[in-house]
Amino acid sequence: MEKLHVYNSLTRRKEVFEPISPPFVGMYVCGPTVYGDAHLGHARPAITFDVVYRYLRHLGYKVRYVRNITDVGHLENDADEGEDKIAKKAKLEQLEPMEVAQYYTDRYHEVMQMLNVLRPSIEPRATGHIPEQIRMIEKIIENGFAYVVNGSVYLDVVKYAQYYKYGELSGRENLDELLSGSRELEGQTEKKNPFDFALWKKASPEHIMRWQSPWGEGFPGWHIECSAMSIKYLGECTDIHGGGMDLKFPHHEAEIAQTNACLHPHPPRNEAKYWMHNNLVTINGQKMGKSLGNFITLEQFFSGNHPLLLRSYSPMTIRFFILQSHYRSTLDFSNDALTAAEKGLQRLLNGLRLAKELKTSPITTFDLNAYKASLYAAMNDDFNSAMVIAQLFEGIRLINAIDQGMEKITASDLEAFISLLNTFTFDILGLKQEIEDVTPRLEAVMNILIELRNEARKNKNYALSDAIRDKLAQNKILLKDTPEGTRWQFAPTE
Ligand SMILES: [Zn+2]
Repeated sequence: MEKLHVYNSLTRRKEVFEPISPPFVGMYVCGPTVYGDAHLGHARPAITFDVVYRYLRHLGYKVRYVRNITDVGHLENDADEGEDKIAKKAKLEQLEPMEVAQYYTDRYHEVMQMLNVLRPSIEPRATGHIPEQIRMIEKIIENGFAYVVNGSVYLDVVKYAQYYKYGELSGRENLDELLSGSRELEGQTEKKNPFDFALWKKASPEHIMRWQSPWGEGFPGWHIECSAMSIKYLGECTDIHGGGMDLKFPHHEAEIAQTNACLHPHPPRNEAKYWMHNNLVTINGQKMGKSLGNFITLEQFFSGNHPLLLRSYSPMTIRFFILQSHYRSTLDFSNDALTAAEKGLQRLLNGLRLAKELKTSPITTFDLNAYKASLYAAMNDDFNSAMVIAQLFEGIRLINAIDQGMEKITASDLEAFISLLNTFTFDILGLKQEIEDVTPRLEAVMNILIELRNEARKNKNYALSDAIRDKLAQNKILLKDTPEGTRWQFAPTE
């Protein structure tokens, strides 16, 4: 079988995945800044790296998955100026900053659970790792890659670039270009160069979130938390570092620089062996984001309560919609695309239920091993969930063909076939039955209703048999009479 290949943003090519110390895999993913409700743009990295996590575990790796909570230091704009986003929200609502962070962390967990996103192994908070961040900054100063001005500390990009490449990840390696691209903002005069970035900021008197440091009272810059926590929990070079494409610059570029500046290794360690970035969610071709004000929160999708939504969409519809595109492709939101995703998911789940009822034969007429290989080939090609879903629909086509007698399958092959489809659909893609209770008990109740309806029809009591069918249909359960008997399935919610 083809080995797992991962597209590495740092080298800009697909590489064979070889962890540094197999069977262990370290994975760090930049988590949410908890100052607002999670929207569709947040669901994408969470689901992308959830599938990476699930698949690596499926392959037998022992994965330590670290996804942080940014609860301090993420400034209003991506330069180093502006107010802390969380502190600003706190002032607005007259709450303690930690109260705001806790509230949105809890809400983030709730929607992630609805999306069937697994909890990471460790979920460290930036505010819980201030000493680690301070120590790291001290080391960077010691190594001569940072300077202190008026209680703030900045990374000296020019000095850094004498030893290491700066801007390799985002393709901004020319410092002159970087210079012309940087906007001169108020207060920037402290810096030697506009592209230098803050490791530590002096707190102004009205700033609420503040800590003692060797440079006076202040708070960490946005980027340093991820470097400090990645090193703390995953070592000096982890296997995978992931996040949204919009984090490549300045956030990930800064992370790489901080880590190299702190460890001062030769050759550079770049914090991670494989850098992975999911593409963005767009709305009318524009990035969906809080700063642009064009976002739809996940809760709004689940309730349908947003002017751009024609109706509500279930969490699994959202998950399926995201997985239908490869994570490196853009994903454009539309009601039509979501409706199509909902129908597709229902067709997949109905097909998997039908598989359990198939009649078996003494022979299998198709190549089950080749089919299995196609599913793994899709995942091994840089976690191509879109291809996996296409192959799962090929599986549903085979199920229907077996049902109609056009293909045959042996009992043992059917067992293997069902187990394979379930593994990819539920364990690896992380989909689940929306109506949790497709349990044996619901099947039993449905069989009783189908029997009663057949009894009524035999007695020519069509008023009753039609009533049973219609009332089930009103509850989104459809009965279908086939030569093999009556079957039921869930209707897509309209
Ligand atoms: Zn980060």
